[in-house]
Amino acid sequence: LTAAEEEVLEKIEAEDVDFLRLQFTDILGTVKNVAVPARQAEKAFTEGIYFDGSSIEGFVRIQESDMRLVPDPDTFAVLPWRNDNDGVSARMICDVYDTSTGEPFEGDPRRVLKNALERAEDMGYTVNFAPEPEFFLFEEDEDGNATTETGDHGGYFDVAPKDLASDVRRDIIYGLESMGFEIEASHHEVAKGQHEINFEYDDALSTADNVATFRMVVRAIAAQHDLHATFMPKPIPRINGSGMHTHMSLMTADGENAFHDEDDEFNLSDEAHSYLAGVLEHAPAITAVANPTVNSYKRLVPGYEAPVYVAWSDRNRSALVRKPAARVPAASRVELRSPDPSCNPYLAFAAMIHAGLDGIEQDLECPDPIRENIYEFDDEKREEYGIDTLPTNLGEAVEALEDDEVIYNALGEHVAPKFVEAKTQEFQEYLVDVSEWELDRYLEKY
Ligand code: GLU
Ligand code: MG
Ligand code: MG
Repeated sequence: LTAAEEEVLEKIEAEDVDFLRLQFTDILGTVKNVAVPARQAEKAFTEGIYFDGSSIEGFVRIQESDMRLVPDPDTFAVLPWRNDNDGVSARMICDVYDTSTGEPFEGDPRRVLKNALERAEDMGYTVNFAPEPEFFLFEEDEDGNATTETGDHGGYFDVAPKDLASDVRRDIIYGLESMGFEIEASHHEVAKGQHEINFEYDDALSTADNVATFRMVVRAIAAQHDLHATFMPKPIPRINGSGMHTHMSLMTADGENAFHDEDDEFNLSDEAHSYLAGVLEHAPAITAVANPTVNSYKRLVPGYEAPVYVAWSDRNRSALVRKPAARVPAASRVELRSPDPSCNPYLAFAAMIHAGLDGIEQDLECPDPIRENIYEFDDEKREEYGIDTLPTNLGEAVEALEDDEVIYNALGEHVAPKFVEAKTQEFQEYLVDVSEWELDRYLEKY
């Protein structure tokens, strides 16, 4: 066993852990887990735990269904919502291996992100990400089902007594902190019942793990308060939806921020400019992965602080990519504002990283920042500035993904076709459905 693995065994002993949940995600980003008695920890490290992958979305065909989970000891954490009657549970995030080859399974989203990080490493970089996930807290009905009723009437940065949900948010934050999260800030968002919790930047793999864990913790602790937490991007029409702005930077091998340049007008290095240009260039295809649901596109409309136009800015917040003010060189970064929290963070981050690295590799030229409010531009002005729009629905986004070799390949041979297939089907189902809106509009009129 490695030193980190030994340490996990000691913690299991010290914290009296009964069960280990071995956690991984499917292609759609849903967290799955297999529970084993804690005494199997050593075996999990040395041999792995076998499971049948055929029932996991997009993993394998039935005839090749044996997979192996190998826990990453760095991700050990006791679950804070443990029920004393059930004993103590801890989780570890796992890498998935293919039992027929013994190799890492290419259909594992964590593997897809690791591939992106290996490409970065080959180019001399490590990658830092920080997300800003937003979510809604809704009341449950008598049967415990989610509603879209919010118990509070707060607004942006409001404080108690309006912000009744701050108790819940406090418990969520305690829970996250007990699992090792460094919380930067939390606040009530613009919409009724909407919240945001920011956690500190970390390497992109840890950050993706953190997003998966975050969603799980928020849901579990909200449920203890009889509330339903949702990361659905646009649960209520005509008010702000939930985004997951993502801050990105690269570091060089000697620990310097490769995105910082003192002498540049925006304090961004040439690499940062090219990375940004790569993200803009591949933005439509990234959207399929970072905004992977039909509902995602109800958020990406003008008027609700979500991006629509492919442009960057160092001033205003209407642009797709923003260069936040950095107080210290280490904080120079770019913020992509399109992702929403329904995405699979591993795949979405992999797509963003490959887009940026492609920009650097091709030495792409970064366009000028747009400092005016793009929402007020007419078509002609947008054309004059060469500003494209993001895909307007999941179907268009998936087409953009299929047309973009860099982002399609970023997902890998296993995941890319499965992702496209699943999302095409989802969009087709949506297209043939008849909505409440249509019935309200047409049923009596015609
Ligand atoms: N809720 C907004 C969105 O959909 C973002 C608001 C903000 O700037 O934090 O992206
Ligand atoms: Mg926000
Ligand atoms: Mg932001």
